[in-house]
Amino acid sequence: MVKGRDAGDPGSKDGIKRRIEELREKVRYHDKKYYIDNDPEISDSEYDHLFRQLKELEERYPEFKTQNSPTQRVGSGEIDEFETVEHEVTMLSLDKASNVEELQDFYNTVQDTLNENEIMLIMEPKIDGVGVALTYDDGMLKRGATRGDGSQGEDITENVRTIHEIPLVLNEDSILRDIEVRGEVYMPLDGFKNMNETREEKGKEPFANPRNATAGTLRLKHPREVSNRPLSFFAYSLGSHSHGEFSTHWQMLEELGIAGLPINDHVREIESMDHALELVETWEDKRHALNYDIDGLVFKVNDISFQEKLGSTTHHPRWAIAYKFPPKRKTTKVKDIEVMVGRTGVLTPVARLEPIHLSGTEVSRASLHNEEEVARRDVRIGDVVLVEKAGEIIPQVIKVMKEERDGSEQEFVMPRHCPACGSEAKQVGDEVARRCLNASCPAQVTRRLEHWGSRDALDIDGLGPKLLQKLVEREIVISIPDLYTLELDDLVHLERMGEKSSNNLLQEIEKSKTAGLKRVLIGLGIRYVGNYLSDVLANHYVSIEALVNTSKGELEEIDDVGEEIAESITMFISNSNNLDMIHRLQELGINMRANELHRDLSQYLEGNTFVFTGKLDNFTREEAAREVEQHGARVTSSISGNTDCLVVGQDPGSKFDNAKEEDIMIMDEATFIKMLEEETFPPVSA
Ligand SMILES: [Zn+2]
Repeated sequence: MVKGRDAGDPGSKDGIKRRIEELREKVRYHDKKYYIDNDPEISDSEYDHLFRQLKELEERYPEFKTQNSPTQRVGSGEIDEFETVEHEVTMLSLDKASNVEELQDFYNTVQDTLNENEIMLIMEPKIDGVGVALTYDDGMLKRGATRGDGSQGEDITENVRTIHEIPLVLNEDSILRDIEVRGEVYMPLDGFKNMNETREEKGKEPFANPRNATAGTLRLKHPREVSNRPLSFFAYSLGSHSHGEFSTHWQMLEELGIAGLPINDHVREIESMDHALELVETWEDKRHALNYDIDGLVFKVNDISFQEKLGSTTHHPRWAIAYKFPPKRKTTKVKDIEVMVGRTGVLTPVARLEPIHLSGTEVSRASLHNEEEVARRDVRIGDVVLVEKAGEIIPQVIKVMKEERDGSEQEFVMPRHCPACGSEAKQVGDEVARRCLNASCPAQVTRRLEHWGSRDALDIDGLGPKLLQKLVEREIVISIPDLYTLELDDLVHLERMGEKSSNNLLQEIEKSKTAGLKRVLIGLGIRYVGNYLSDVLANHYVSIEALVNTSKGELEEIDDVGEEIAESITMFISNSNNLDMIHRLQELGINMRANELHRDLSQYLEGNTFVFTGKLDNFTREEAAREVEQHGARVTSSISGNTDCLVVGQDPGSKFDNAKEEDIMIMDEATFIKMLEEETFPPVSA
């Protein structure tokens, strides 16, 4: 039993250093499994636990902090200016082929120059991102730079460090130590879509495509903000030396993989020009299934001695070529401009188009974002416009073909009233967007319900927009809780809703009750609180009660929650309608606890009751309580016959004296931390 405050040996410095190293190795290993191999071995909460342990130890023992720890990816400062850096070896651009004839010409020239018939090539998808060079010094990431003009780029080290796919330390199994890695930073399409949605909700201009978003993000001056953007990375070559160690490009890629760098899955060795042409054809369609944009295929001569023989011009290597896919743009006519009402009431003008086929799908609508944008581009009803599918997601009007006008085109006037409910639509604050401020607007209600049932939220299969519209129109459902009182009779009489699909839907709704706090938070659609923040909040608060009782100040103390977000959450939880809704959902049996946390973490404190007194150095009272609660303990505010353990900080109150009398285990902060690390109770070292 631990008595008094000086108990608990913090362990030898060597032991702590070893423990920190071990944790770093573990976090790195699981980072690679998660981010690069797409094959996680542990749950998110187990990972968070490791990460937190490491962070806590590093904070307690700052002498063991290093730049290369996985906890140090994100710097907190601001970048003054991006410094210009010289590339040791020029980053040449690739020669381009815009049709198969040019690709064939390239191959013929290579054959002639080398005087060889069969030349092995490597095909790599041409990722549509931003080219960067990463310098590793004895296996440690030292610098990240943009390509720039090829000989000079910008130092963006602080920003590339935040990208989890880029290792801060190369794997020791690899022979690569001092290298310059070249590759492409890009933004996955799902992340791009989410980010743009959030931007539009905030009344900010969405990015035109993932490449622009990537370039814009890499030039942000706040690494913390960069870390919140969904950037990723693929490596495709080595810059300076080390070539001597490989006889083929393929071997080099394999070694980059061993070093822990992400190599694209679709890279192939190909043996003939016929095979190359075949790939060009299949990838024209196949690329639409990827979660990132590619704008072509790169072909490289595999044999490094051949590459050396072929050499380079001043602009590009003669041993590689980029085949570019034809652009995903087409012209079509704007039949009408409609106004859609979003979940938060934002009115968005949408062009209804003569249908065209674009990158494998039929396109009949394009977002025009907001009235300012319509005016800026001067899009009129009847115009011929150039439409692009940016990031394979939302088609965009990129140009109005004004020369095709005949005078019959009509200018678009943004309505001053909501097209769904007729309420006045206002611009709030300095937002560009106009909003319908009627919270019970049927269009908004429908969209909110649709959002509640969406895949990332409560994932209710079969709750489509058409059905919801009917349910809302008939006032069968007017708010989220109404979904949980639906009965077979409410559904079977609706068009296209037989008994089978009605029953399936009811089952889906029932199943959604167990989805847990994170998904509920996504589903509530609080402004700015998407997938990522919902996860952060669910982990932090564990239950909805804790969240609705929080304060703006406490919210702002959470790492990823800024003032604007804290404001939005506070506004949501101080609205009595929202609280009523949450209350009703609870009564209807919707689970609002972070179920995952409790399932995955060891429950070694189950059955024990903790009391805290005095000020702790490393935790707020809430944090300390959460640490033990998530492992099954109960926390009470005063000592009773049920109390098992009193954790004592500085300046303890009368509880300390009471506990001494009651023969309750007393633990100081160091022992408390030790217990959390060892996950045993009572602590072994006690
Ligand atoms: Zn409305």
